[in-house]
Amino acid sequence: MNLLDSRTVMGDLGWIAYPKNGWEEIGEVDENYAPIHTYQVCKVMEQNQNNWLLTSWISNEGASRIFIELKFTLRDCNSLPGGLGTCKETFNMYYFESDDEDGRNIKENQYIKIDTIAADESFTELDLGDRVMKLNTEVRDVGPLTKKGFYLAFQDVGACIALVSVRVYYKKCPSVIRNLARFPDTITGADSSQLLEVSGVCINHSVTEEAPKMHCSAEGEWLVPIGKCLCKAGYEEKNNTCQAPSPVSTVKKGKITKNSISLSWQEPDRPNGIILEYEIKYFEKDQETSYTIIKSKETTITADGLKPGSTYIFQIRARTAAGYGGFSQRFEFETSPLLAASSDESQIPIIVVSVTVGVILLAVVIGFLLSGSCCDHGCGWASSLRAVAYPSLTWRCGYSKAKQDPEEEKMHFHNGHIKLPGVRTYVDPHTYEDPNQAVHEFAKEIEASCITIERVIGAGEFGEVCSGRLKLQGKREFPVAIKTLKVGYTEKQRRDFLGEASIMGQFDHPNIIHLEGVVTKSKPVMIVSEYMENGSLDTFLKKNDGQFTVIQLVGMLRGIASGMKYLSDMGYVHRDLAARNILINSNLVCKVSDFGLSRVLEDDPEAAYTTRGGKIPIRWTAPEAIAFRKFTSASDVWSYGIVMWEVMSYGERPYWEMTNQDVIKAVEEGYRLPSPMDCPAALYQLMLDCWQKDRNSRPKFDEIVSILDKLIRNPSSLKTLVNASSRASNLLVEHSPVGTGAYRSVGEWLEAIKMGRYTEIFMENGYSSMDAVAQVTLEDLRRLGVTLVGHQKKIMNSLQEMKVQLVNGMVPF
Ligand code: AMP
Repeated sequence: MNLLDSRTVMGDLGWIAYPKNGWEEIGEVDENYAPIHTYQVCKVMEQNQNNWLLTSWISNEGASRIFIELKFTLRDCNSLPGGLGTCKETFNMYYFESDDEDGRNIKENQYIKIDTIAADESFTELDLGDRVMKLNTEVRDVGPLTKKGFYLAFQDVGACIALVSVRVYYKKCPSVIRNLARFPDTITGADSSQLLEVSGVCINHSVTEEAPKMHCSAEGEWLVPIGKCLCKAGYEEKNNTCQAPSPVSTVKKGKITKNSISLSWQEPDRPNGIILEYEIKYFEKDQETSYTIIKSKETTITADGLKPGSTYIFQIRARTAAGYGGFSQRFEFETSPLLAASSDESQIPIIVVSVTVGVILLAVVIGFLLSGSCCDHGCGWASSLRAVAYPSLTWRCGYSKAKQDPEEEKMHFHNGHIKLPGVRTYVDPHTYEDPNQAVHEFAKEIEASCITIERVIGAGEFGEVCSGRLKLQGKREFPVAIKTLKVGYTEKQRRDFLGEASIMGQFDHPNIIHLEGVVTKSKPVMIVSEYMENGSLDTFLKKNDGQFTVIQLVGMLRGIASGMKYLSDMGYVHRDLAARNILINSNLVCKVSDFGLSRVLEDDPEAAYTTRGGKIPIRWTAPEAIAFRKFTSASDVWSYGIVMWEVMSYGERPYWEMTNQDVIKAVEEGYRLPSPMDCPAALYQLMLDCWQKDRNSRPKFDEIVSILDKLIRNPSSLKTLVNASSRASNLLVEHSPVGTGAYRSVGEWLEAIKMGRYTEIFMENGYSSMDAVAQVTLEDLRRLGVTLVGHQKKIMNSLQEMKVQLVNGMVPF
């Protein structure tokens, strides 16, 4: 935001020059006859110059840090014959704060100096005798400002200057809507490294899910969104707004049996668009925490699998392209009592209620014995056994075996999560007898004609991964990623492929890759998910080595931790958390992806067979999971620590080229990865905490999220870096530096790491042997002219790697 731009002021600038024969305004106009306010002074031949130019009062409009951009030309003293003795090549810029315009008559010595301004080296050139004047641009910032405004002053002490323009501005993070929360225009903080935490306000018709916040950086960028708002029930998100159809008001009961209730209803009075479907929520009276949702395109449904003689509450809402309307009032209906005669006994054969008491007891006992492991293995047949033995238990086991209208989708919820009641909130698709049923419980079927495939972006285990677009009825087309199942697949491959969708479809979190749906009714079979423009995180970081601020990296890590917290709350253990399995979008939001069933590790090129036969990505996996397959959220935390290391080292390979066996051995012996270069100490400490041998001592994901939040809120806590020399000495404990023999020459080593271009510089500066190279520090590299951060890292990491290999381990823990 400009506070002053001398180029756009049409009339008099009102600046004052003294002494009168010092700075003078040149009355020029541009091609539109608008005045150009250029001030010049050129008293290079005269001694003791002290020429001041004062601006008029500039309001800071509430900003506490302002920027001043000067455009000027400055004559090279060499180009002024005879002026060399007195000629200067700089001028000074000052400011004076005041709440009003009264401050103008203050004394020179009350001004505070901002800087001495010099031109760029190339500002003048003697080109075949012609003097070429170049326009210089210099920017300075001032802050913190404490008054309402200020004056600027330019002091010339004998240079030849033309001040072409002065622009004074401050930076702000412009008002945005993110995650349905509105963040106001926010003026950046006074400190150049300060991040301001700004709270968002939920937009109309939305409510807070987790308090929405973002951070406004000194550069005027919004960083690290946290929390979000959700459209209120009855509203759906569309183009950053929430709006919707009116509630269904008339509901009539139809046929009622012992186990089912049929209903019909009328379209809402004000549909506000074409009704796409209805959602019917029902639950047993006073049991609201366990409810079932049916989605139907018709205005009638039959809820079945109900308990005899019980009262059920129904609510219905309609969905248009604008989203869901509000739920109707509650309607109560009761199923027929168990012993009542009924013509409709199709759901539970009459034989069930007349089997002998002995059979019932036997079945109940078997059911009881099985209940502990019901949802880990074989829930399918256990639940059907219960259904036969005692119909009401069907409800407990979570999914209905009733015939279902293909137009309907049905899901059960417990405490807000899709569930198998009483067990855990994530449902292992293996618990379904028919995996196709699992897919359709958790994933929407999409018609292939709604998808446009554009290009291949990757290779998955089961086929190509493409980018494309999805156009759903009543919605705007949007980009998606499409995983395809290659032709000639086996039934098992199809099941495993769709297994990922059955898992992904159960999650709804901003840091978990979102499933749009599946195509199973035509070929090729496809999984359609949100598109992540920047692809997988490891590749992205490698490509952008050294390009992000620490806060941006921590923002990525915070997102991953938040997604993992959600998964662990759901009872889902990922087992293959690694930067390659995180996707990143154009806003640098990271999302956890790659969910699989038994094949979870089959498609990971990093996964290796262990002596016990399992396939495990050794470098990312906690020792107890490698040794005895104890995969838990705590082992995911270990992997998270490795992901932190990957992120902070821009995609470096954990444990470099050490063999898996050496990694296992070193970790078992208590060695841990050293800190990545330039890593804040607080982050490395968190990594070490994640790598505690005792899994109960590792932080939980919710703790990790709050630690990272605190660091983000207080960026100065990230300024303490792990000391480079302590890193090196850790590695060198009891051992000689990089040994002879690792590489035969410095040249060979630099070539091997593709840094051969520096060989000559190393040799010329005395680093001609590997022993000498071992002493190289980051400062040395800078001194040698290795200025690119990526190259510095490559060289330092390679040195470290050699040292680590020599000590046959890593940082002792
Ligand atoms: P996967 O089989 O899940 O490992 O996917 C293979 C590759 O496809 C990944 O490494 C990504 O580069 C790319 N990919 C997968 N899913 C997406 C997505 N949703 N958005 C963008 N790229 C993706």
